[in-house]
Amino acid sequence: RTEAVKDFIKKNGLLTLSVIAVLSGCTLGFMLRGTHLSTQAKIYFSFPGELLMRMLKMLILPLITSRCCGFMLMSGLSLMELKSCCRMGVLTVTYYLWTTFIAVIVGIVLVLIIKPGVGTEMESHRLGGGARHDLDSHLSSTVFLQYKTDLVPILKVPTRTVQPNFVYVFPDESNPKGRMVFLELTPPPDVTYKTSPGASGQMNVLGIVIFSATMGLLLGRMGERGTPLVSVCQCVNECVMKIINAAVWYFPFGIIFLVAGKILDMQDPSTLGRKLGWYGITVLAGLFVHGLILLPLFYFILTKKNPFSYIRGLLQAMVIALATSSSSATLPITMKCLLENCHVDRQIARFVLPVGATINMDGTALYEAVAAIFIAQVNDYELDFGQLVTISITATAASIGAAGIPQAGLVTMVIVLTSVGLPPDDITLIVAIDWILDRFRTMVNVLGDALAAGIIAHLCRKDFPLSGTGKSNLCQIS
Ligand code: ASP
Repeated sequence: RTEAVKDFIKKNGLLTLSVIAVLSGCTLGFMLRGTHLSTQAKIYFSFPGELLMRMLKMLILPLITSRCCGFMLMSGLSLMELKSCCRMGVLTVTYYLWTTFIAVIVGIVLVLIIKPGVGTEMESHRLGGGARHDLDSHLSSTVFLQYKTDLVPILKVPTRTVQPNFVYVFPDESNPKGRMVFLELTPPPDVTYKTSPGASGQMNVLGIVIFSATMGLLLGRMGERGTPLVSVCQCVNECVMKIINAAVWYFPFGIIFLVAGKILDMQDPSTLGRKLGWYGITVLAGLFVHGLILLPLFYFILTKKNPFSYIRGLLQAMVIALATSSSSATLPITMKCLLENCHVDRQIARFVLPVGATINMDGTALYEAVAAIFIAQVNDYELDFGQLVTISITATAASIGAAGIPQAGLVTMVIVLTSVGLPPDDITLIVAIDWILDRFRTMVNVLGDALAAGIIAHLCRKDFPLSGTGKSNLCQIS
């Protein structure tokens, strides 16, 4: 029996601790809400959670560079193998686009059926008045330009630190709490601002993937001369995996404070109102249908394997996604789960996951579509069929443009709103509950990437017959 207990702890200990941590964080947060902690005390209180976010982000860069570089090296560079890589790339991108589009359709259907924004009430939640910024055209063009240029990473010296999801709060008399406006604009002189927790800095994951893959490709062609750099990559990869294995034991502790800190800052739910409540329920229902019914169904149809035993291996990554609201920050843990628990081909995981963390955000796409239609309903704005098609296309595009960081989807949603002539300022209607919805859509984003890795590994199994799977290969680059 002791053996069985030991075995259970070894297999499920970390996951159990993480779940307990989320629950404890919620309890602690709600208990402390009545105590009116000072801002300074809150900063100290949130520190262990901030440390967790930073640990995860620290690991992303070395993990992706060494793994993508290694992936291309492994291709051996014969024409045949290069072809296999291309096939895998095309399959991955096609699958990602397809599932994102389906997610958008699910969202649109649900919001049209439930109609959360129809009826009276809601004005009290509109943070109107105050300074107005001409955000629409600025954002809709820059997000896309940014996305395209991100494909080619450059080293640039920052002239000022701007975070993409800054929330500038402009106080004025009619609205003492301030009207929130999102953007990378130079703040007016006396502006006060705050950032979304955990969103400190954004990493250009796609750029890193492309740069590392190119490096790997060229290194492979260099033969002997490239060997030292290959060894460096191998060592980095091995060290990163060791750090991850050790760091995961800190996670439950960090999660408690991450979740509790967020609950401390949360707006009183009783003031949120009925429409916002129904909007939240619509998004959650859509995420449930897409994440736990449709995606597993695709997995089953394409692989003929049980999707739920596969998802069971991903629970640790799901908990981290829930706690951090960042699919990029969750990436190291998703990779670990895929290799150790789901035994996905390591070459495929190395490619499919980082690309997915950047361009595949089913949960975000679904939420963007629901939110845009909700805002139209609140404004009594009739959307015709053409506009619904526009929303489905722009929501897909906006999710591709969103970064894997907390509440990035809120920023790119301006694209969707402006495409059908809705006021971008009305994002403020949904800000109050966005932080919680963000956690669940991040879980679906991570789940979508991980299931895709399993599907692509199955579809490309003939192309990569020699590659191994599982733990024994964790520390190897090739
Ligand atoms: N937080 C999400 C993620 O990291 C992005 C978003 O929808 O805001 O995947």
